[in-house]
Amino acid sequence: MTPALSDVEAVPPGSTIGIVGGGQLGRMLSIAAARLGYKCHIFDPHPWPCAADVAAHFVRADYDDRAALAAFADGVDVATYEFENLPVEPLEVLGDKLRPGLKSLAIAQDRAHEKEFIEQCGARVAPWRAVASLEDVRSAFAEFGTPLVLKSRRYGYDGKGQAWIRSADDAEAAWEAIGREPAIAETGVDFAAEFSVILARWADAGHVFWDSPENVHEGGILRRSTVPCGEPVAAQVAEARGAALAIAEALDHVGVLTVEFFAAADGPLVNEIAPRVHNSGHWTIEGAVTSQFEQHVRAICGLPPGLTGLMRGGAEMENLIGPEVERWPELVKQRGAHVHIYGKGEARPGRKMGHVTRVVR
Ligand code: AMP
Repeated sequence: MTPALSDVEAVPPGSTIGIVGGGQLGRMLSIAAARLGYKCHIFDPHPWPCAADVAAHFVRADYDDRAALAAFADGVDVATYEFENLPVEPLEVLGDKLRPGLKSLAIAQDRAHEKEFIEQCGARVAPWRAVASLEDVRSAFAEFGTPLVLKSRRYGYDGKGQAWIRSADDAEAAWEAIGREPAIAETGVDFAAEFSVILARWADAGHVFWDSPENVHEGGILRRSTVPCGEPVAAQVAEARGAALAIAEALDHVGVLTVEFFAAADGPLVNEIAPRVHNSGHWTIEGAVTSQFEQHVRAICGLPPGLTGLMRGGAEMENLIGPEVERWPELVKQRGAHVHIYGKGEARPGRKMGHVTRVVR
């Protein structure tokens, strides 16, 4: 029988998926890929990243090591990345094998470009401006007032590279705290809740959404994600999905894309984009018919989408941050608690070491 065109184009099970980055997202992607019969090849500069424990191949090299990237490109059938703080240009050697493409990566790594791009897509963000000096910070404060948050343009995550300004006297300390780096100054949003839209998009523009989780952050780090979301968020999900899809289309994104939102009084405001699977989607492993990790593999390999509905009434995911992972003996005793431990070694404060998901009937 002649295979259909879509079958010919699919990257079939048995093929090798390259993953740039070997953290917990690469680990959970590798587990999902293995279930579908793929082999994963991890590219990461650390001696033994936690994804290497569960992947078929691991190469240790710097992210800008062009020779190592060229060899990696030759050895994989398709490639993806699991975090966005990567030098863009060396990854060009991966060509069309890289999904999502470099545009998604480049936009997400500079907060000022990201905000401009989001606004060009017709979505709304909190009032902001780029700052490059203490004078800029002071004039942003004069323009926007308090509270104001400074966020370094590059390499910020989990609340790192951020400093709040609550009075004019804080401006200098905040500028120092972020290391006098080019930054954005953004007004503090008085939100009812935070939530994310998680979608997967295919090269043929097909797409699916999961239920939007309501997210609680503490100290800039995700604490908990819950589905279904509460009423204030539910009322904003349709508009937020429209914004997230417009962003995905403008990027010609292939794979999972996560857009984080504030549920503000006048509607959803985009906080940031992650061009990848996301912590707020970990609940999908047990809580949805198809997890974000399996769906990402399906999308980048050109397999059809899996269903995204809830397995039961809902789910709650709680992160195990730093020494909280030591709670494992008690957690593994709890009936119905799905315990995930990433095998990352030292439990430094603020480091994501694992998570627990409870599926609600
Ligand atoms: P980010 O690194 O930008 O995702 O910020 C981490 C967390 O800090 C967010 O999830 C919010 O809880 C908080 N945050 C960041 N920006 C703002 C803002 N403009 N207004 C209020 N809270 C914010």
